[in-house]
Amino acid sequence: MSIVEETLVLVKPDGVARNLTGEILRRLEAKGYQLVDLRMLQPERELLEAHYAEHAGKPFFGPLVEFMGSGPVVAVRLAGHRVVEGVRTLLGATEPTVAAPGTIRGDLGRDWGASVVQNLVHASDAPETAARELALWFSRR
Ligand code: UDP
Ligand code: MG
Repeated sequence: MSIVEETLVLVKPDGVARNLTGEILRRLEAKGYQLVDLRMLQPERELLEAHYAEHAGKPFFGPLVEFMGSGPVVAVRLAGHRVVEGVRTLLGATEPTVAAPGTIRGDLGRDWGASVVQNLVHASDAPETAARELALWFSRR
């Protein structure tokens, strides 16, 4: 029996600014994952600090929150069998310079010499993380 799983994908401000939202979503859909929900928003600092809580205290935390709040992001609820792991594979390594060709970060990203790695897209790293992050970005208020 296949168990359908969900993950959170964020097209980061650099991805939106570079008009890569369509290309990034195209790759996720082409792989066969299902778009369940989608929203574009300018995230509040509070949301970003909660989203990246695991990195609080690290040297890149401040610049990361700043960068993520620098423009609109596109948040996606994506579903499919083993979608969490599958999307991480599609993204490639965190640093675009070393991300494998064929991955989103490897094909479309590069390092810009900024204090934070601008790597176009975020995706949850485990099913439990996905549940926590989806609740943050898709809470109905
Ligand atoms: N990041 C950074 N410098 C680092 C590590 C991470 O600027 O040394 C940024 C980068 O944008 C990354 C995000 O912080 O995507 C979250 O880091 P994580 O290690 O969770 O990488 P990811 O899960 O996004 O691949
Ligand atoms: Mg991460």
